[in-house]
Amino acid sequence: MTLEPQRGLDGIKAYIPGKPLSELERELGIRDAIKLASNENPYGVSPKALAAMERALASGNMYPDGASYDLRAAIAGRFGFSLDQVVVGNGADDLILELSMAYLDDGDEVIVSRSSFPIYDIYAHAMRARLIKTPLTSGYRIDLDAMARAVTHRTRLVYLANPNNPTGTMVTASELAAFLRRVPDDVLVVLDDAYAEMADSPEFPDSLGYVREGRRNVVVLRTFSKVYGLAGIRIGYGFGHAETLAPTFKVKQAFNVNSVAQAAGVAALEDEEFVRFTVAENRKGREVLCAAFRRLGLEFAESHTNFVLVRIGPRAGDVQQALLRRGVIVRPCAAYDLPDCLRASIGTPAENERFLAALEPLVTAR
Ligand SMILES: *Cc1c(COP(=O)(O)O)cnc(C)c1O
Repeated sequence: MTLEPQRGLDGIKAYIPGKPLSELERELGIRDAIKLASNENPYGVSPKALAAMERALASGNMYPDGASYDLRAAIAGRFGFSLDQVVVGNGADDLILELSMAYLDDGDEVIVSRSSFPIYDIYAHAMRARLIKTPLTSGYRIDLDAMARAVTHRTRLVYLANPNNPTGTMVTASELAAFLRRVPDDVLVVLDDAYAEMADSPEFPDSLGYVREGRRNVVVLRTFSKVYGLAGIRIGYGFGHAETLAPTFKVKQAFNVNSVAQAAGVAALEDEEFVRFTVAENRKGREVLCAAFRRLGLEFAESHTNFVLVRIGPRAGDVQQALLRRGVIVRPCAAYDLPDCLRASIGTPAENERFLAALEPLVTAR
């Protein structure tokens, strides 16, 4: 007799995170590597959040508030919801796990787009659900029509990352509205808005509007990891109808958001200046990267966020490795079904320049 893990795990491909800076620096014996691989905020932590975390450390002997009251109240107040319409987690990842535990039974179907956020797949498999993947459409865009057609009587969850990771593309307000009209009431649509603050197109949907109007089968996820610069602190938040969110409170870890993170989140929400600065700088950096890709003749997906998916061709893996040797970490996309592409996060002006200087000879010398 041997010890066997539960069979849902058979379908799981381990999540491969962006290579940590310290690991590459250790391997190369260098100290000035740059990481443009995990869509982190290149301008650091929100200064207000940093000060609040320093103050919170001294209470580390006490358990955190398991209900995260102050943080949820701050989020609810900020966005105009009631407390029971707001959940928080140890990153948005944690909320994806909670929703999976709360809503998936053996054999239920979960619809996700190909080339999207892999965490959805992992927790769907863990719950022994069946993953249904729809292909991307032209321009590396998510095909909402295909997703709507994939719905069956077994479908319980649909995930839509918008803007999508790793493609950076968005679905528009009218596309989303048409999609939601086609989805039955007993299918929960999770709108993953992790990058919403950076999407500046007038056609970007107001996903919170669906929760505000009382729709029960929509949950919206957001995070402090990107625009607030708190990826290492782990805070995600979500909005939904109180009755839709209630089951997640049954399965959540009792103390899923630590006390330092709770304090950070409250303060970060007030740091509008940091968010404005980040969004403005990101927009400029995005222009710089896209202009360079155009000049180099590289195809790229239209980005509405803080990274750009660029098509290198069959040598993408080699180019990524060569960039590593030059101290530049970007994300290979084979694990996202896009082996010809790399995903580069938008960095500071100096980081973008360093990345482009390292990239250019690799894609022009053939
Ligand atoms: C980064 C990201 C998240 C947020 O992850 P956290 O767990 O909050 O750090 C969620 N969804 C997508 C699509 C992301 O890219």
